[in-house]
Amino acid sequence: MKTSQFFLHTFRESPADAQIISHQLMIRSGMIYPTYSGIYSWMPLGLRVFSKIEAIIAAEQDKIGCNRILMPTIQPASLWIESGRYDCYGKEMLRFKDRHERDMLYGPTHEEVITDIARYFIKSYKQLPVIFYQISSKFRDEIRPRFGVMRGREFCMKDGYSFDIDQEGAQNSYKKIFFSYLRTFKTMGLTVIPVRANTGAIGGNLSHEFHVVAQTGESEIFYDAAYDSVDPAALTFEELEQIYTAADERHDPATCGVPAERIVKSMGIEVGHIFYFGTKYSKSMNFSVIGKDGAPFPPEMGSYGIGVSRLVAAIIEANNDKDGIIWPDAVAPFKIAIITTNQQDTRGAALAESLYSKLLAANVDVLLDDRNERAGVKFSDIDLIGIPYQIIIGTKAVEYGQFELKIRRTNIRQDLSFDEVLNKFSAGG
Ligand code: ATP
Ligand code: MG
Repeated sequence: MKTSQFFLHTFRESPADAQIISHQLMIRSGMIYPTYSGIYSWMPLGLRVFSKIEAIIAAEQDKIGCNRILMPTIQPASLWIESGRYDCYGKEMLRFKDRHERDMLYGPTHEEVITDIARYFIKSYKQLPVIFYQISSKFRDEIRPRFGVMRGREFCMKDGYSFDIDQEGAQNSYKKIFFSYLRTFKTMGLTVIPVRANTGAIGGNLSHEFHVVAQTGESEIFYDAAYDSVDPAALTFEELEQIYTAADERHDPATCGVPAERIVKSMGIEVGHIFYFGTKYSKSMNFSVIGKDGAPFPPEMGSYGIGVSRLVAAIIEANNDKDGIIWPDAVAPFKIAIITTNQQDTRGAALAESLYSKLLAANVDVLLDDRNERAGVKFSDIDLIGIPYQIIIGTKAVEYGQFELKIRRTNIRQDLSFDEVLNKFSAGG
């Protein structure tokens, strides 16, 4: 992509209501546009990051055998009346009537819709276990939408649902998802802490929230300092459960069993949340399957959410400096930006064009900044939008064949030849 074609619009200032750095940087870099309170449009730069996050999540879900589907965002109230949640869900649910005066809603979550699907397709224990997931919009009429896409009213979630024969099977599905989430967040360059949580409105008995530790997080989390020195992916679920962690509503210093001086308290951004809730929905919605012994029984269920749009903001909270965003390679909108310092110099422009087409041919995500702008403007824009690697093509390149590579995160600069640049990045380095 070339900046002469790419719809890139950056701003020097951020709006007064943007209180946290990710919101400021997303607005300043033109990633999103606030269409309405808590309702955002994703602009080309933002959507590229969003799509990479979505792809990482989907790839990991597919790898562990989850089945991707797409459910409607608009749901009939009748399903929620069946499950018993219609009256207790409260004002976060956007309710309306269709032209026939039937009660409808914009889905805040999809347990009812998936249970209705499952009872249509699944008749026998032989069809279990199965896990479905989708990546789509939710609407929750948050009382205080804020911090941009961090707490929107319309937002994107990966939501998954598991169906198992018995408790043991359901707990295996839960653990499988638990570890897949650790891998998913790690691939995005994020360190997360899974903490034990209460089950709340969804109901049930086992739940974890996944938090990115950040000053600007809205939740308090508590954990044993011992957690900081373990690699959760290297432990079993049971070993991890020995180390105390708790979401705020669950933490009780009196009963936690860890000495106060060992408890770490931090603010966290909740980027994922998983629940095992047994037969709550299968029972209330009359979903049963035929067991081995010929008798019908209600399947055991769990649900598993990742905040796709919130993740974009959370990654920025964890990766920025005074000049802007610093994307981890895996989610960067472009991996490399080629910047001509003087686009009018046809020799430099030609070198840039040639490097650009060779990198494109090698399947590298590259942005060519071919704007007729001052070099300083280009440098600050490319820093702001957080491209991890910059190749600067100026006089040195034209005269001596030296292409300056700047690494955004470390600010380390290095002169490379044309071929060295090509080899370095074509090899995926
Ligand atoms: P929170 O406590 O932040 O309000 P929640 O517990 O209500 O979130 P869940 O029902 O657990 O949310 O939804 C799964 C995931 O969806 C959350 O972990 C979060 O990452 C994301 N999410 C929830 N609400 C929002 C929102 N209003 N805007 C953006 N992402 C959200
Ligand atoms: Mg939650």
